[in-house]
Amino acid sequence: MENRVRVRFAPSPTGPLHIGGVRTALYNYLFAKQNDGDFLLRIEDTDQTRFVEGAEEYIIESFKWLGLQFDEGVGIGGPYGPYKQSERKPLYKDYALELINKGKAYYAFDTAEELAAKRTQAEAEKKTFQYDCKTRMSLKNSLSLPADEVKQLLDSGIPYVIRFKFEEGETIEFDDLIRGHIKMESSLLDDKVLYKSDGMPTYHLANIVDDHLMRITHVIRGEEWLPSCPLHVSLYRAFGWESDMPQFAHLPLILKPDGKGKLSKRDGDRLGFPVFPLEWHDPKSQEISSGYRESGYLPQAVVNMLALLGWNDGTEQEIFSLDELVKKFSIERISKHGAKFDMEKAKWFNHQYLQQVDDDVLAQEYFKELQQKGISTSYQTVMQVVSLIKERCSFAKELWQNSDYFFVRPAEYAEKALKKRWKEGTSQVMKTISGHLHNIEDNDWAQKAEDFLMDYIQKNELNMGQIMNCLRLSVVGDTKGPNMLDIMQVLGKDEILYRLDTAIEKINL
Ligand code: GLU
Repeated sequence: MENRVRVRFAPSPTGPLHIGGVRTALYNYLFAKQNDGDFLLRIEDTDQTRFVEGAEEYIIESFKWLGLQFDEGVGIGGPYGPYKQSERKPLYKDYALELINKGKAYYAFDTAEELAAKRTQAEAEKKTFQYDCKTRMSLKNSLSLPADEVKQLLDSGIPYVIRFKFEEGETIEFDDLIRGHIKMESSLLDDKVLYKSDGMPTYHLANIVDDHLMRITHVIRGEEWLPSCPLHVSLYRAFGWESDMPQFAHLPLILKPDGKGKLSKRDGDRLGFPVFPLEWHDPKSQEISSGYRESGYLPQAVVNMLALLGWNDGTEQEIFSLDELVKKFSIERISKHGAKFDMEKAKWFNHQYLQQVDDDVLAQEYFKELQQKGISTSYQTVMQVVSLIKERCSFAKELWQNSDYFFVRPAEYAEKALKKRWKEGTSQVMKTISGHLHNIEDNDWAQKAEDFLMDYIQKNELNMGQIMNCLRLSVVGDTKGPNMLDIMQVLGKDEILYRLDTAIEKINL
């Protein structure tokens, strides 16, 4: 029990979950499962000003869709609950007070206006203001003010915050599983607020207290939290929890496709790909952002794609099932450098996974879609079409654009192909061929028709490409599609010959 691996994904419900967050959760999941450990979902909602309606539900639904199951957490429960920080509110204050008693934190009474004035003044002097070991004694806090005045202020109920007290001249050192050994001078750090005047802890305090109480062994999170880590390490030491401090692993960023900067929430729809797992309807702006699910991605493809954005197993292998990822994942092989998002690669992954979907599953969906379009066809035909066409599709929704001609006769013929293939006299040749095809018996017609065509073209020294393409043009209306034998088999004698005869008549060259 003692050494059981326990990791958490700890999003703040401030909006939809960015795929960078999904990747963080995925790496946590893989690491937990590989070590027979626990994967927790903790909702960090202590900043009430940033709370967004529906974000928590969105997060839970996203992971359901992706197939990444939490062992404990919000919506599941578990022995270390509650897992939502706002529901843990009463317990944080005692921890903040414990640090004050130990001389590791202090009350600060400066108002927002007073601090703003300090900032403005510093700016005028081309400096930046920081509440730290150098400035704190000239500010309004329990270190700078006499004890009785502090007591008076506290008794009067005046708002205060509790700040961490960084000692001067210390070097804070720790190891990161990805970044290696990290050193930071304490004098450079600001005395971060741990407890706010609204009675809520800040992220820093709540995060450390909860990681400790929930027995988290490894903190795997985005690189943006690395600058906060010296504070977190100092907090563990201040509480006297250093011996069971989690190990840290800060993940590199996911970058924009051109590699210039972090992939932001805005980039997706600007560049034409989703950056969120599910479509998001912003409750305030009413803006809609696209999601992988609604864009037709398969969850397994998204998981596989994200796993490889910043990690590989050292071989060329790219397709990994979730089970395989659990076996092969290793923190050591996570790149230190940002990983560029590649939309074409995302599509490629979906293409690969779409090929693994049962024809039957796709056919059922496609059959419904066709019915909605008012097309009457048999399920058996749809099955045949799906098995012929799916390799040409990256998304199930592309089935129609790649196979519409199976269900709708061509209304026109692709002009360029027509010019290139249908010469003067072609109609006459095709007419003769059609006559022969009509005479072939119905039983196994497609195969016999093809055999006949091969034979006939050769014997008459005709141009194979030209004839077959003219047949295709007549049937499909274009030069696309699988081989003609397959098309003839699906459509059958009557339909093929109807289309051929119509084309001969319409084109009439
Ligand atoms: N609540 C933080 C976030 O939104 C969690 C950071 C951490 O994992 O420590 O990313």
